[in-house]
Amino acid sequence: MTTIDYRELYIDGGWRSPATEDVITVNSPTTEQVIGSVPAASARDVDAAVAAARGAFDAPEGWSSWSPEQRGEVLERFASELEARAAETARRVSLQNGMPIWLAEQFEGGFPAVLVRYFSKMMIDAPTVDERAGMLGGTARVSRHPIGVVAAVVPWNVPQAISFLKLAPALAAGCTVVLKPAEETVLDAFLMSEAAAAAGLPPGVLNVVPGGREVGAYLVEHPGIDKVSFTGSTAAGSKIAETCGRLLRPVTLELGGKSAAILLDDVDLNASLESLFGVTFLNNGQICWLNTRVLAPRSRYGEIVDTLTDLARSLQIGDPLDPGTKIGPLVSARQRERVEGYIAKGKSEGARLTTGGGRPAGIESGFFVEPTIFADLDNTATIAREEIFGPVLSVIPFSDETEALAIANDSEYGLGGSVWSSDVERAAGIAAKVKSGTVGVNHYSNDPVAPFGGIKNSGLGRELGPEGLHTFQQLHTVYLPPAG
Ligand code: NAD
Repeated sequence: MTTIDYRELYIDGGWRSPATEDVITVNSPTTEQVIGSVPAASARDVDAAVAAARGAFDAPEGWSSWSPEQRGEVLERFASELEARAAETARRVSLQNGMPIWLAEQFEGGFPAVLVRYFSKMMIDAPTVDERAGMLGGTARVSRHPIGVVAAVVPWNVPQAISFLKLAPALAAGCTVVLKPAEETVLDAFLMSEAAAAAGLPPGVLNVVPGGREVGAYLVEHPGIDKVSFTGSTAAGSKIAETCGRLLRPVTLELGGKSAAILLDDVDLNASLESLFGVTFLNNGQICWLNTRVLAPRSRYGEIVDTLTDLARSLQIGDPLDPGTKIGPLVSARQRERVEGYIAKGKSEGARLTTGGGRPAGIESGFFVEPTIFADLDNTATIAREEIFGPVLSVIPFSDETEALAIANDSEYGLGGSVWSSDVERAAGIAAKVKSGTVGVNHYSNDPVAPFGGIKNSGLGRELGPEGLHTFQQLHTVYLPPAG
């Protein structure tokens, strides 16, 4: 296979020579072979990217001064250029992180352009000022302004969609951005840069600095940054929050999860199977909001364990580029080690393995782990408490709805969740009491119109919806005097 190699960085609206000769080499988690390389950004490259973003934001005629309509024209071109590259974007993500191609086409190929258009239109439609009759006689004229230069730091699991949860609202609002992709998934970020260049985004509006955590930390702390938007692990999020706390720098954090699917006693299991797959094993178990704790009523516990076991066994494992594949490899050998460590922990703590637990037979290369189900455990087990980030489910019994809710809420995380029942309103009533940011009934999807984000160790702030735009804006008020 020919490799995908870049020699320059996308900074200040063009392709620039990197400051050092350091390179990030990308390996396929399926073949374990090299698939490409990009320059690794150094501190000097980050300085150049932040300076370019600062200039594009601060200049009197800069991006922040444009009307939403003017920005909308450029962003529409950006959306079209992204669409023109959607198939290749999906392929690159799948090649780099093992995401099944049918999912990559939806999440990674399709979603970015949708988000760019959604937030651009929201900006155009938004009233420019909100005049409020004052209680003290005057009028308060409240307006929203772009917050400034944004540092966007993203993970490898859903790299393009997560990047655009930040880029789309930030750019629409008039902010300029320095994006730091994860080292595992840089090739898609370079393709996205090509789309930005082809669309004619003005110099400095978007800049991309690939690198590891040191580069991320340097960017987050950079004096030229006004706002940080981070998605990744709770451990890294906590460090970033400390930095931002010290600097009094606004920060949004989308972190880990250990969400619960509550199956009520009247759930129609057969009708729910496909959606249940979607909330448990999607992207090989590597999505933050997945429901990796399945809570099942004791009256139907055996049946539910058997059904999930059959589901796990039925999933086609293999090359993520094969459209029939449901489970691809984990992103790296390190990630597989981590997941296997949790499987060993589950066994040693006495949970019953009903299927999976090992590497699939007959696959010679790649970081594969079989879809794995543990039963006969309670919510105190390590595998029920910690985020595994792999295809491993814990099926935990409950006696009644009160206990189900208590178990669902007994977590240091609070990101997603779902409730399953033949009675939608009954399920919605329980969903309303789940302590997390977003909860689905009989399915789960991050709809662009709804704020997405977590509570507790799952993060701070929200993305998507109008709230996801407001996070990139400052409020400004002019007090007008009483009339007469
Ligand atoms: P990670 O935190 O190790 O890395 C995420 C990104 O942050 C990478 O670009 C990395 O280089 C950078 N980074 C790491 N430490 C940093 C630091 N101290 N300062 C600045 N940047 C730093 O996470 P990961 O292993 O790549 O991704 C998996 C994690 O992301 C999981 O915990 C998952 O739940 C979480 N995640 C959350 C969401 C969400 O929306 N809540 C979405 C996807 C993934």
